[in-house]
Amino acid sequence: MKTDSAITKDNTKNLSEVAGALKGLERAAVTTHVGADGDAIGSSAAMLRLLEKLGVEAVFCHSEAVPNYLRWLIPEAVAEIPSGYELIALDTSRADRTGVRIPESGAAINIDHHADNPEYAKTNYVDGEAAATAEIVARLYVELGVELDKEAAEAVYTGINTDTGGFRFRNISPETHELAAELLRAGVVPAEVDDRINRTGTLEQLRVVGTTLANAERYGEVLIATVDNKDYEKTGGSELDSKEAIDALRTVAGVDVVAHLRQVPKGTKGSLRSELFDVQEVAQGFGGGGHRLAAGFTREGLTPEEAKQELLEALRGRVDLGDSPNGAEKEGK
Ligand code: AMP
Ligand code: MN
Ligand code: MN
Repeated sequence: MKTDSAITKDNTKNLSEVAGALKGLERAAVTTHVGADGDAIGSSAAMLRLLEKLGVEAVFCHSEAVPNYLRWLIPEAVAEIPSGYELIALDTSRADRTGVRIPESGAAINIDHHADNPEYAKTNYVDGEAAATAEIVARLYVELGVELDKEAAEAVYTGINTDTGGFRFRNISPETHELAAELLRAGVVPAEVDDRINRTGTLEQLRVVGTTLANAERYGEVLIATVDNKDYEKTGGSELDSKEAIDALRTVAGVDVVAHLRQVPKGTKGSLRSELFDVQEVAQGFGGGGHRLAAGFTREGLTPEEAKQELLEALRGRVDLGDSPNGAEKEGK
């Protein structure tokens, strides 16, 4: 890959600091956030490869299994940090969201694109403008003069592709597309990656997504879909499977905020997406966080229905909620 590309955009001072910190490591445990997504695993896989090329002994640590559709990037995780390994957290907006418990000595390096990241490690690189954490890892390859080979490029591409809804969301910049072009030159075939990440579903997954969509209720500019244990039982799909419904919720015309509220063992996990409204602030009000237009939270001990009422209260007066469920259109709004 060329080293003069637009992907070395800003924050070069910090970038060189992180690059220096990476080079200084002997053994590293790479981790990411709980409920890992394509960027979490993609950025981790690219980082593991970078460390290997730098001669750093590296292992992926996470208390949860790597999701099926991402195992081609990282086949397995070690549940605990081996002794003598320093922690690198990727795509993890808060210290309490890492996939393994942070040791008392703290995390060594924190690389992320959540603007609200409080910089909890010794060395931090947070760029809220990056479309994905994987984009930042690609910049580190350039900074360190390490070639982005096909495997690394596929990992980075997965992170960007999944965090941008396939290059469609508002976090996309010209730099992101320039980087994508370089990834293709490095050997990525988008259709192959798409096959691996988007065509690995089961009929049970499809059915739980369908049930989730059928549960959607409209309140003016807000669309909320709940899904609970009964739905999982009926369809055979899991709570995580149901989250795939969130992008389809966004297709309804005139809707600004969509919420996916799914029952989890602890209570209800909420995912919020918006076109304009700041949902990060709403998620923070429930102890969560994320980005301005994509955020999440967990409400312990609440059913999805209870979490829905609470969410509607939090949105009242800030977003047009219409007059009655599903009725906003009929009222001529
Ligand atoms: P999700 O809907 O769970 O995919 O989350 C959307 C965004 O919000 C991601 O960037 C997550 O990292 C972030 N997020 C989700 N849940 C939480 C939480 N409980 N605390 C902080 N950030 C979160
Ligand atoms: Mn993520
Ligand atoms: Mn991300």
